[in-house]
Amino acid sequence: MPALPAHPGEDLAFTYHKKSSDLRTFVYGIMVLMVMCDVPVFVLLFLYLKSPTGRGVVLALIALELLALVYVLPSLLLMRHSIKVDKLIIRFGIKKWVIPLGNIRTASSVNSIRSKGLSNFGVHYDREQDVLCVLSGSKNAILIELKKPQRFRVSLFRPVLASRVLINVDELERFLDALRQQLPNGGDADVSVPPAGIVVPASALSEAESRRPIASGLASPGIAFARPDTATDWALEAQSLEKYYGSFKAVDGIGLKVRPGEIYGFLGPNGAGKTTTMKMITGLLRPSGGQVRVFGRDIWQEPLAAKKLLGYVAEHPLVYDRLTGREFVRFSSELYRTPRAGLEERVEQLLAGFDLAAAADDLIVTYSQGMRRKIALAAAVVHRPGLLVLDEPTNGLDPQGAWMIKNLLRSLAEQGAAALLSTHALEVAENICDRVAIIDRGRIVAEGTVNDLKGQAKMPESNLEQVFLALTGHGNDRERVFTAR
Ligand code: ATP
Repeated sequence: MPALPAHPGEDLAFTYHKKSSDLRTFVYGIMVLMVMCDVPVFVLLFLYLKSPTGRGVVLALIALELLALVYVLPSLLLMRHSIKVDKLIIRFGIKKWVIPLGNIRTASSVNSIRSKGLSNFGVHYDREQDVLCVLSGSKNAILIELKKPQRFRVSLFRPVLASRVLINVDELERFLDALRQQLPNGGDADVSVPPAGIVVPASALSEAESRRPIASGLASPGIAFARPDTATDWALEAQSLEKYYGSFKAVDGIGLKVRPGEIYGFLGPNGAGKTTTMKMITGLLRPSGGQVRVFGRDIWQEPLAAKKLLGYVAEHPLVYDRLTGREFVRFSSELYRTPRAGLEERVEQLLAGFDLAAAADDLIVTYSQGMRRKIALAAAVVHRPGLLVLDEPTNGLDPQGAWMIKNLLRSLAEQGAAALLSTHALEVAENICDRVAIIDRGRIVAEGTVNDLKGQAKMPESNLEQVFLALTGHGNDRERVFTAR
């Protein structure tokens, strides 16, 4: 192994040869076969052609084939990266990208890539995980997280904006050591080697958070949350969010702020834009305009930092049918790189808290709709998020399940975490939300406590349902329809 440079600033080269050797042997084999077939043809052509031009062309063809043999094709399979004074140069065959060292936030080894979406050969951008993959194997990968998303040219016409880059190197630790030495200010970035066998990390919780005691007296035992130690006053700040689907504006300038310890309800008729807004808030859908910050972290500028503070359960939650409930919660904890200490206990507490202990070893495919929602919730809170975003959380739940959700949200708020939930169950919103926003046709039409809304609608004696119908105009429409008939 070449020694580390004596002085920071010296160039260092890193290859990824060993792990791609099978593929290289295959390509070399094909090329040798090509040469064996082509050489007799060229020799015959050479003997047949008498003119110097014809023979020159044949010689040029032989030279080209030899050149391809020794250089061009193998180079497509070579990875050779170098760390220079101020930049990291990534090479994959004839392609090359430069990352200024000042833009590197973290670099960590990912010893095995097991994420389904990521192909482990070639250069491509995975939009879902916001990662540029420059890979020729699933082993010995390094994930580089950038401070600011950077533009990378992947093909001639398609530059992509990526916040993370995944590469292979033979010598992981040497690479990380070298990066640590070369970084400005003696290592502004977090350069670490996490345990082997992880999926591309979605986030990492601090050790301190993981040791936070589980709050006592919860109705749903063991479901602990954490208010992140950040200076910001807001768990969530969304400003001027807009979303166009083609020429249709589904979300039109939505802004909302949620405090730590607050449960915020998002109400609106079908098609009002609730799910679209929530997907933009959780970083699943890129807004056409506007900004989202989770505990001060911009969801698009700092996706890892922001997403580690988030838990999200969609209206139709994504669960893996072929895993058992227990496996799914563990899988989710791996995605979030939840520290192992105390993890097994937490998984068991979550399964018990959501009344799934008896079914924990059954495949999720056998679960009822309500059980699927509960297991998705357990998986969404396993990393103790500071902000929980729930789209229609009580859909498909029996009264006990709905009661469990209410208790979960109350205990979350008591612990200083926050929740944003959309619901059509207005009595749930009235009972548990500190503030609500009513959204209609992509815009917020009213916002505040339930009493504020009653005041805004000049309906102090009405319940939230009547206020909702009045504010969204749908009550009047319905009245008109019934009267006309
Ligand atoms: P619901 O209460 O029925 O779940 P919602 O308030 O969550 O509705 P959204 O799902 O956000 O509403 O949809 C807002 C609008 O955007 C709707 O008119 C919908 O048809 C449209 N829409 C949503 N997703 C897409 C899409 N992928 N392509 C085109 N239009 C879409």
